[in-house]
Amino acid sequence: MKAVRVHTPGGPDALTYEDVPEPVAKTGEAIVKVDAAGLNYIDVYVRTGLYKQEPPFTVGFEAGGAVTAVGPNVSGVKVADRVAYTGVLGAYAQYAAVPAARLVKLPDGVTTKQGAAAMLQGMTAHYLACSTYPLKKGDTCVIHAAAGGVGLLLCQIARTRGARVIATVSTEEKAKLAREAGADDVILYTQQDFEAEVKRLTGGKGVQVIYDGVGKTTFDKGLSCLAPRGMMVLFGQSSGPVPSFDPSILNAKGSLFLTRPSLFHHIATREELVQRAGDVLGWIRDGKLRLRMETEFALKDAAEAHRALESRTTTGKVLLIP
Ligand code: NDP
Repeated sequence: MKAVRVHTPGGPDALTYEDVPEPVAKTGEAIVKVDAAGLNYIDVYVRTGLYKQEPPFTVGFEAGGAVTAVGPNVSGVKVADRVAYTGVLGAYAQYAAVPAARLVKLPDGVTTKQGAAAMLQGMTAHYLACSTYPLKKGDTCVIHAAAGGVGLLLCQIARTRGARVIATVSTEEKAKLAREAGADDVILYTQQDFEAEVKRLTGGKGVQVIYDGVGKTTFDKGLSCLAPRGMMVLFGQSSGPVPSFDPSILNAKGSLFLTRPSLFHHIATREELVQRAGDVLGWIRDGKLRLRMETEFALKDAAEAHRALESRTTTGKVLLIP
């Protein structure tokens, strides 16, 4: 079968499309024929070596497809079930061996492509808005890179929970998408000083929470946008990692809270995985959460897809089709 692997971490050209043996289901595993693999920023971190994996490895943490085989001691899924999953490396391939306990069956009305588009970014938006800082009516939040994969979903969930959303994006086209996803105010942080704008928009009060997946270029100013006892949720670093800093700054800026969460600690148990995925997939089925999944690349063009994501030209979800 074909897969996209990394032998030596590096730029997009480190992604090699090659023949590898088809996986065989071991105890507790199922084989998924991948209809679509989700592209996520974490794939860039893994490709470059920022997040370490032992090479050679097949890239990708998210896919949707159908079960073609199950190993011993598998219950809960059977051949032909339509499933999606995240958190298991190896999705950029025609087939993936996945622990059956990580698979979620897709409800009727949700396609395998939608499953591939929803699992990682959808459950991330879910835990950020519902668990890390559970948004409520009366809260104002800042969502950086709001037209991205996580961003568009987080805007919608934040609005559903009754919060006011101040979004940041780099272009007018992205601003339109953020507004359509429910953002009340949009700041072009490539042209405007977002700290000054957030202060202006909140009458100098600041916001209760900032969801920051951009990192290096937004973190410091973000701390200045928080109301006293506000929370900085640093959940990624698409612009580069945040350098070390003196924690007493959290005191100086108003007894702030800082957290650096990861999805994988929020779906560690089967129970939590099923609950979060059930919410997200149910909202999609019921039309309460809209996925933007207009960009597809053939799996063999994974390097091109990574270039597009890193050059900030993508919006919403990008899928790789084997
Ligand atoms: P996105 O689709 O949001 O793409 C990244 C976006 O970041 C770009 O579109 C761009 O939006 C913005 N950006 C700002 N500066 C840069 C830069 N210098 N280079 C590239 N992009 C930049 O990606 P994802 O939705 O996959 O992920 C968003 C973030 O969330 C990532 O940091 C990712 O690691 C993180 N994440 C964290 C998880 C967790 O549990 N901790 C889980 C899932 C994702 P614009 O042009 O508007 O500035």
